Amino acid sequence: MTHHVLGLRCTICGAEYRVGEVDYVCPRHGHDGILDVLYDYARIRREVAPERLTTSPDRSIWRYLPLMPVDADLARSLAEGTVLGSVGWTPLFPAPRLAARLGLKHLWVKDDSRQPTASFKDRASAVAVVKARERGAEVVTTASTGNAAAALAGLCAAVGQRNVIFVPRTAPQAKVAQLLAFGATVLLVDGTYDQAFDLCLEAAEAFGWYNRNTAYNPYMSEGKKTAAYEICEQLALATGAASSFRAPDVILIPVGDGCIIGGIHKGLRDLAALNWIDRMPRLIGVQAAGSSPLVDAWERGLEGWEMQMVEAHSVADSIVAGLPRDRIKALRAVRETGGAYVRVSDEEILAAIPALAQGCGVFAEPAAAAAYAGLVRAVERGLVGPEERVVVLATGSGLKDVASVMKATGQPLTVAPDLQDVRRALAQR
Ligand SMILES: *Cc1c(COP(=O)(O)O)cnc(C)c1O
Ligand SMILES: [Zn+2]
Repeated sequence: MTHHVLGLRCTICGAEYRVGEVDYVCPRHGHDGILDVLYDYARIRREVAPERLTTSPDRSIWRYLPLMPVDADLARSLAEGTVLGSVGWTPLFPAPRLAARLGLKHLWVKDDSRQPTASFKDRASAVAVVKARERGAEVVTTASTGNAAAALAGLCAAVGQRNVIFVPRTAPQAKVAQLLAFGATVLLVDGTYDQAFDLCLEAAEAFGWYNRNTAYNPYMSEGKKTAAYEICEQLALATGAASSFRAPDVILIPVGDGCIIGGIHKGLRDLAALNWIDRMPRLIGVQAAGSSPLVDAWERGLEGWEMQMVEAHSVADSIVAGLPRDRIKALRAVRETGGAYVRVSDEEILAAIPALAQGCGVFAEPAAAAAYAGLVRAVERGLVGPEERVVVLATGSGLKDVASVMKATGQPLTVAPDLQDVRRALAQR
């Protein structure tokens, strides 16, 4: 079965290319010329009823194969019986206690900490692994702050694919441990993520490796968009909608490079183009105050190509990006949906980890907790109304960065091994 891709369009100049005509970016715009994947929506509408997708027994991203840019037979055969087949279809949990605390009525948390390698990045890496096999690539490579790398290494291991990973020296240990355990060739770059990214592009070109890099490989958004399908499908189920898909009013998304928010926007645009949802949710991008170039650009009305590299730092390592690679798609996602960008401090991010964990049982790494911290801010600022249906995207597990979590939680009580001391400790609490 072939896929329904029409071609690729440059997000800067609008030039269109046939599949196979260009590999990654618009040749006129070099590394910045990230492409958008175009689909034959008319044909999909004729051939695919929404119920056919939503009644699929496949509880993974592959239930949406007719809307994905991969060879469906190849994807199915790789996914069959492997970890690759368990990417996606993460739960959408109602969070009534958190909602009540914020004065909201309808709040859900989409829990992507439960992906096979414990972050949202599995959605994109899954597509990368299939694309690499379509090309017959011997080696796949990526640069990453950690999670994209762990996702690529883990899913490559699932199907026996060689891979080379570039991560900044500062990546949290758990993420590096995943890479090593999965057998990736790991290069710790003595520099920033931005430097690791440029080095990886150079190496991929020099050695002919298949390149998974975010906002360079146009197909990564196509993996990430599956979360939007799932949210709308699960919300329809949760609210007893007559339709197969129902859009929420607002989605809060943590933003570093901007590929996730761009991907969610793409998924929603697909559903809208197919007339499977009747309105576009507002997308609220959340950045750490120490790494908030997209908030700045949004406030100042700048376009993605006018942005300059800034120095960036935050406890939320997965959303630290001095020049967000997918800035064009990330700004469009917010502007075209009437959403907003908000910044949250590292203190707010750390406080959000136990708040989310205790409020609904979802254990998030700092970057993921930032989305909840952003919701708190957004409610304060009146960006989200009390009656609205709100979804917070939890993008990665707290187990990814235990050291940061402990900064927020403090230390446990210590007792001698006798009941008297337990009484003393409990009384002091
Ligand atoms: C990568 C990542 C993000 C941000 O995604 P971008 O596409 O870089 O904006 C947020 N949270 C987690 C846990 C991530 O790994
Ligand atoms: Zn172009």
